[in-house]
This record gives sequence, C-alpha cells and structure tokens, in this order.
Amino acid sequence: RSRSAKNTNGSPPSHIPEIRHMTIAANKVASIQYTVLDEEGQIIDSSEGGEPLVFLVGAQNVIQGLEEALIGKAVGDQVKTTVEPAKAYGEYNPEGVQEVPMEAFEGVETVEPGMAFTAETEQGPMNLIVTAVEDNMVTVDGNHPLAGKALTFDVTVEAVRDATDEEMAHGHVHGEGGHQDRKSTRLNSSHARNLV
Ligand code: ZN
Repeated sequence: RSRSAKNTNGSPPSHIPEIRHMTIAANKVASIQYTVLDEEGQIIDSSEGGEPLVFLVGAQNVIQGLEEALIGKAVGDQVKTTVEPAKAYGEYNPEGVQEVPMEAFEGVETVEPGMAFTAETEQGPMNLIVTAVEDNMVTVDGNHPLAGKALTFDVTVEAVRDATDEEMAHGHVHGEGGHQDRKSTRLNSSHARNLV
C-alpha cells in the first residue's frame, strides 16, 4: 500500500468534520437563541440576554413548525420562519370557551381575568385562563394564549450534539438547559382546581 495516498502534503487536518457539520435531526440536542414575533411584529418571547433554548429534536419538545424549519441546519445558521397556527399552538377553538359558576373556584379568594387554572378533565389536565367575571359566572378559555396565531421565529443555531440514550428514553434534555418546559412557564399563576 502506498503511504502517499494518506497524506499528500503533510499538513494536519484543520478541523474535525464530524462536529463542524453536525446538523439538526431526530435524536440530536439543539441549542438555539430565538426571538418570537406575532403577526404585528411585536416580540412575544426571546432568549436574548439569557440562556439558549436547549431541546431534544423529534420529541415534541418545541412546536412542530419551528422544529421542521430547523432540520438540517448547523451551528451558526440563522433561520427566520413564520409558522402557521396549525403547526404552532393550534387553531383557536371557540368551543374551548365556557362559563362556569363561581362556586367552582371554591377556596380562591378573588377570581380575576388573566388568572390561570388547571382543570381536571376526562382528557387529562387542561389549562384555563379566566377571560371575564360577571356576577356569579366566570368565563374561562381553554385555548392556549397563542392559539390561532401565526408566529415568526428568528433563530440562530448555537450548538448541536448527539442525545444520550437516557435523554432519548426520557424524551427530553438532561444537564445544562435541561428539563425545561417553556409552555408551562407562561401560565405561572395556576391553581390546581376542579372546574368540571
Ligand atoms: Zn429525564
């Protein structure tokens, strides 16, 4: 065998290709900096000035449309994408709005618009936002606050790595940036109550 076929000019490899070219795909852990804008261009949420969002790809850790736009991207890539409601927080469902009597909030001192509650339903726990209080009736909305909205994401990919076996088994990221649940941090004043 010819030795010259291996290294023709004697220069060392300048980079490690496996790491440089790792792209976002299922069972990878991606770290991103992001800004989310609504249809009017108002900033809804941003990681700027804080920790990146770290998530396991292919495990429904982030909204579908965002993940789809990031597949195949590598460190340093910038992505700007508008995600339709169906691939974000879903269409707005008018049937998610209901009126419940004040008695259902037994033990809660003051029920006010904007408060979030968790209701036990046959489909499991459901987050409800109080939208109106009139006399003895409380209007609650089970839609996600961002349901029915197209969201524009401005993303920079900061890191991509392989997920560990444990992360894949659990369906979420461990370690730095791990065990995040950004969907639930929006609903920060929830009181566990039986509404229905
Ligand atoms: Zn875990």
